[in-house]
Amino acid sequence: MSFTIHGLPVSQGIAIGHAHLVSHALLEVNHYQIAARHIKAELERFDNAVTSVEAELLNLKASAATAQPHSEVGAFIDLQRMMLEDPVLVEAARNKIKEHHYNAEWALVQQMESVVEQFRQIEDPYLRERKADVVQVVERLVKALLGDPGPLPPKRKDKFGTVIVAHDLSPADTIGFRDHIAGFITDIGGPTSHTAIVARNLGIPAVVGLRHIRNLLRANELIIVDGTRGIAIVDPDESVVEEYMLRRASLELERSKLKRLRDTPAATLGGEIIQLLANISGPQDMPQIKDINADGVGLFRTEFLFIDRDTLPDEDEQYEIYRSVVKAASGKPVTARTFDLGADKTLAGSSQSEPNPALGLRAVRYSLAEPKIFLTQLRALLRASAHGKLQIMIPMLMHTDEIEQTLTLIGKAKEELREEKIKFNEKLPVGGMVEVPAAALALGMFVRHLDFLSIGTNDLIQYTLAVDRGNESVVRLYDPLHPAVLKLISSTIQAAQRAELPVSVCGEMAGTSAYTLLLLGMGLRSFSMHPARILEIKQQILRADLAEITPKVQRILKLDEPARIREAVEKLGG
Ligand code: PEP
Ligand code: MG
Repeated sequence: MSFTIHGLPVSQGIAIGHAHLVSHALLEVNHYQIAARHIKAELERFDNAVTSVEAELLNLKASAATAQPHSEVGAFIDLQRMMLEDPVLVEAARNKIKEHHYNAEWALVQQMESVVEQFRQIEDPYLRERKADVVQVVERLVKALLGDPGPLPPKRKDKFGTVIVAHDLSPADTIGFRDHIAGFITDIGGPTSHTAIVARNLGIPAVVGLRHIRNLLRANELIIVDGTRGIAIVDPDESVVEEYMLRRASLELERSKLKRLRDTPAATLGGEIIQLLANISGPQDMPQIKDINADGVGLFRTEFLFIDRDTLPDEDEQYEIYRSVVKAASGKPVTARTFDLGADKTLAGSSQSEPNPALGLRAVRYSLAEPKIFLTQLRALLRASAHGKLQIMIPMLMHTDEIEQTLTLIGKAKEELREEKIKFNEKLPVGGMVEVPAAALALGMFVRHLDFLSIGTNDLIQYTLAVDRGNESVVRLYDPLHPAVLKLISSTIQAAQRAELPVSVCGEMAGTSAYTLLLLGMGLRSFSMHPARILEIKQQILRADLAEITPKVQRILKLDEPARIREAVEKLGG
């Protein structure tokens, strides 16, 4: 039976394909009973999983001890190891296999639920929170039992592709699926979650926040993903499929018309040239940048070299990657952001022990806590700077100390390279991202130390409004037009210009055509966005009359009623 379900449109376009259901270790555990003659083998399977998780935790502890000798991570890992020996969890689950003939995963999850319930009754808040450790240990055990998730389906030969259907996808999963899929839909997520950004960068239509879609679908069912309207149509009638195939073709036609703007300078009606840069996640994006003739790379999210793999890239591997991006840019500027790890972008095998990861050890904080990894990246970037117009950008700066420490590390990397007689650009510009309200409000300290600024509106909105950008239950509160957000963006642009410091916007607002005139009216002259958005934004710029827009935007900045702001922004286009 055909039905339509509404979610959040996060990556435009239309995908038509067969569902490939991706499992979620704890939510997807199969329940079945084991024949008496297989109980021994099932117990062995269970014991092997316990042994392998034990080894995994020991490894994690060893690497945590080297990286952060004085941190508490080791103690947390020990706590989880103790749980592996706790009869209330492990022996009781074994008994469920022996006595009730449950399969190992089912036995574990059942026992986990009863242990978690006992924890919930505890008064002491610290102990009560330890239920998260139980869940994490069981998740590891279930993953060990399930083994590798298995290969993706081979590329389909019929006219339809594959649509990934998941409870949630991490950015790493999304990248892993990149070559195989027509689109994806998920139960949870928000429009500026990193997964959504990756989908847009890869040009994969996607709808998130569909709540229980994962449970409503059967494998292989035909689905239409309308990433523009934010809907998924399950088991569509033939006529609907045909209609969508036509719409897909007309979208492709529109896209090819925009391609004619490739070599047109991005000039406003008054002739002011606007810089249009691209956001990339690796060298694989560079051909697309050539295709659309972007003015360079305004944001290279280097952390994507670190995730979706088991080992860290060494200096030479990073150097080759940075060099290939710089070379492919053919003399145009490339802004490499030092790795923004933490929050939803974590290294393989790292344990998520932070209660509030978005407010925790993320971005530059993480880099400074891991100086060895940071220095390796800085050396690789400096070496690549010898081959073109590279500049370094530091994410999530909040305090002068972070700038000073980073500049000291850059100085150290330079010193080492000089001693080793390795070439690099002595004058490599170093800039910072303004993505925390504190940075926008105390911009003086940044202006003094840095060569350029870039406003990361995705995080700036998240942190200004205290709204998790990846959480679909608060997505309606995530408002780029909130007066506080507009004031912070506008004052940052003004202050940077007063200090004659180049400033751009590299968050999703820069690639959203509804905000182009608004940002131009605030004085912005440099935009960085996913390459797929550049030509459409150029089209907006070609129609923009700055003399008319600028005073209107100044009036909008004085408004404080969200509805009136929205209305006035819509009217900017005439
Ligand atoms: C931002 O926060 O706006 C930004 C560009 O960085 P990211 O989306 O990678 O956090
Ligand atoms: Mg950010």
